[in-house]
Amino acid sequence: MDKNYTYRDRHVELDADKQFRLGEGKISGYCSVFLGALSLLAVIAYLFPSYLTTNELRNVYDAAVLQNVLKYGMYFSLLFGFITFYLKRYRLMGAVGIALTSCAFLLGGYTVPVGPVEAKRLSLGVDWLILAFLGSVFIFLALEKLWPKYKNQVILRSGWGLDLFYFCFNHLAISAVLVYANYHVSHFDWALSTSLQESIQSMPILLQFLLVVLSADFVLYWEHRLYHEVKWLWPIHAVHHSVENLDWLAGSRGHFIQVFSERAMVMVPLYLLGVDETALNIYVAFAALQAVLIHCNTNLPFGYLKYIIVTPQFHHWHHSSEKPAIDTNYSAHTILFDWLFNTMHLPKKHWPAEYGTTKKLPESFIGQTLYPVTSQFQKRKSETHQ
Ligand SMILES: [Zn+2]
Ligand SMILES: [Zn+2]
Repeated sequence: MDKNYTYRDRHVELDADKQFRLGEGKISGYCSVFLGALSLLAVIAYLFPSYLTTNELRNVYDAAVLQNVLKYGMYFSLLFGFITFYLKRYRLMGAVGIALTSCAFLLGGYTVPVGPVEAKRLSLGVDWLILAFLGSVFIFLALEKLWPKYKNQVILRSGWGLDLFYFCFNHLAISAVLVYANYHVSHFDWALSTSLQESIQSMPILLQFLLVVLSADFVLYWEHRLYHEVKWLWPIHAVHHSVENLDWLAGSRGHFIQVFSERAMVMVPLYLLGVDETALNIYVAFAALQAVLIHCNTNLPFGYLKYIIVTPQFHHWHHSSEKPAIDTNYSAHTILFDWLFNTMHLPKKHWPAEYGTTKKLPESFIGQTLYPVTSQFQKRKSETHQ
């Protein structure tokens, strides 16, 4: 806590136009469109599984069971579509939802036969996108509604469309990310030690999990810190920081170079430690959930746990543009390395009043993707004009 700094409360104005209210047809309209779009995507993925689903995920889920989920998704999309029609105001959304689901039915719907899939090295992660979206909406939107930090912040806050695009883009690219990360990790073959791996594998699963968490955290801490402190790396990471309203979707905003490099770097300790698959799977699930949770608009009470693991309050401060919080809270999993290396900022009950970057970034996906290059030109221009 910075004793010389006056902490302020954040004031969020309620945007009544963008708010969801029961009985207007807006909620059912959005549900119908999203379920319709997901159903259509799922049916297309069932038709071309080797190109549109990921090898890793196919090993985890049962495609036949998920067809049942698809069936309910399609019927609910239609139901919400008709409710929207009945409520009149958002008829167009109802029509779009019903049209998308009808296309899904025409392509075979939930009866597309499930057979053996020829594994491709590169494919799009449509299955990952659909499952992650449904899971996130159920878990994190519920959390944000039950324990909101900023009650007035609406789901359709500014920039939500851009972040939804990032969510889709980064989830679809998962197979490319994994191929790249596996390729990168093979450079570390020289450091492999069978005896070390054997002794690690003989440890209890919980201990192996903790070991993975701490080693991944160490790598992620330093990678993150370099992105902030090395001048030419910052514009890549600034994309993640450009979001000004944090919620479950905000964490998806990230330049693809950052997403690729994060996965590739975190893979190194996981590969070298060679932990048991169960411990690794627990870690992957924990890391995926925590990455979304820490961006959520929630003040879920963590008690003393907030002095051990990275919580929303801790990571919200990382996203703050207020002076005492700049270049602090780099950790991803536990607060250990921020505490050890003196970069921690967790002022008891205070939360940030300002979020985002001190210098504004472009607001489009293309503008942000090119920002690491365009920001260099801008810098040179301003230097020659001085
Ligand atoms: Zn950062
Ligand atoms: Zn973040």
